[in-house]
Amino acid sequence: MAKASLSDLLRTGSLDLAPYEDVYKDFHLHPELSRQEKSTSEKVAAHLAQLKVFDIQINIGGYGLVGVFKNGPGKTVLLRADMDALPVKELTGLPYASSVTMRDADGIEKPVMHACGHDMHMTCLLAAAETLVKMQDAWSGTLITLFQPDEERGGGAQAMVDDDLYSKIPVPDYVFGQHVMRMRAGTIGSRPGTIMAAADSMKITVFGRGGHGSQPHQTVDPVLLAAHIVVRLQSIVSREIDPSDLAVLTVGSLQAGQTENIIADRAELGVDFRSAKLETREKLILAIKRIVEAECAASGSPKPPVFTPTRRFPPTNNDSDLASLVAASFESHFDSFDADTPRTNVSEDFSTLATCRNIPSVFWLTGCIDPEIWDNAQSSGEEIPGNHSALFAPVIQPTMKVGVDALCLSVLTFLRK
Ligand SMILES: [Zn+2]
Ligand SMILES: [Zn+2]
Repeated sequence: MAKASLSDLLRTGSLDLAPYEDVYKDFHLHPELSRQEKSTSEKVAAHLAQLKVFDIQINIGGYGLVGVFKNGPGKTVLLRADMDALPVKELTGLPYASSVTMRDADGIEKPVMHACGHDMHMTCLLAAAETLVKMQDAWSGTLITLFQPDEERGGGAQAMVDDDLYSKIPVPDYVFGQHVMRMRAGTIGSRPGTIMAAADSMKITVFGRGGHGSQPHQTVDPVLLAAHIVVRLQSIVSREIDPSDLAVLTVGSLQAGQTENIIADRAELGVDFRSAKLETREKLILAIKRIVEAECAASGSPKPPVFTPTRRFPPTNNDSDLASLVAASFESHFDSFDADTPRTNVSEDFSTLATCRNIPSVFWLTGCIDPEIWDNAQSSGEEIPGNHSALFAPVIQPTMKVGVDALCLSVLTFLRK
């Protein structure tokens, strides 16, 4: 007898998601800022513990946690969800809207909202974990569920890796993750290659020698130095990067001096850059450093410049072979799967969990906008609030169902008996 299709198999194993709708509302009502996801991670750990089969480790790279379910011989698959919320005052008016405030890293009280859908990601991963436990006779291998802190500031995945993640758990063969997006609920999309751009920011401090505005020969003027740097940096994208590769470089801030007749002793530049390929990103970083150091030398700067990275999101690159296997499963299960969804310039740190060990990974995007609202907006041209908006309001179903099925399918594609 032929094997049942993965889709049929999943249909027989599907859960009633009603209890998970309550889990979602609870997460949504109680958001926590990046690096402060304490009670969220405790709830996740308690939920995983109820499933009885997961070996759980907490507080990895902050409040990160993993659950490992060894279910016989076979490959190891890691599924990732992120946990943090944003300093946004929720204006959705939903019955389960957040009114939470908490102190941010600078000690300032901020309103907090799950405005990026990480509450949905956690809920889908918990429900997928329960589904896969229920279906454990149908597959063999190791399932890792990973709940990551601090995605919004781009530090959580690296923090977990730096906290020896892969000596605490088996190194996976495949890594998968997903994100809700401003797309029609029920739809799902992925693509081979780059699906999300890399984003980096850094502060650069360059040093001069201060003095009187009338005596420039006794000084090293950091304003002139910084001005040369700003102009010269513009030649990186136009002269050094392959024109067919995505690269953007912006000097978003430039500060030096307090008044007209004093030459300052330093200048600070804030630089933001985007790229789609890891090699392009490396080229941008090397070129920025080379130009800044050379301009400092050219000006006779008394001290080397200081580079302080402030934000880092790597590109999210889907492994082509893996993406096509996942796409085949999604295509046969979902009515509206787009295997060539457009790349987005939104950024994620998900891929760090894979690139740190050269593991192939695939990331996909799921729709979360109420189909009726979506269709009306399509005809009226009205803007629907998306991720990070105070009005971002994912419709619970079919958003959750699609997210749970996608995670389960990605595991079953590789671990099915
Ligand atoms: Zn976000
Ligand atoms: Zn997000």
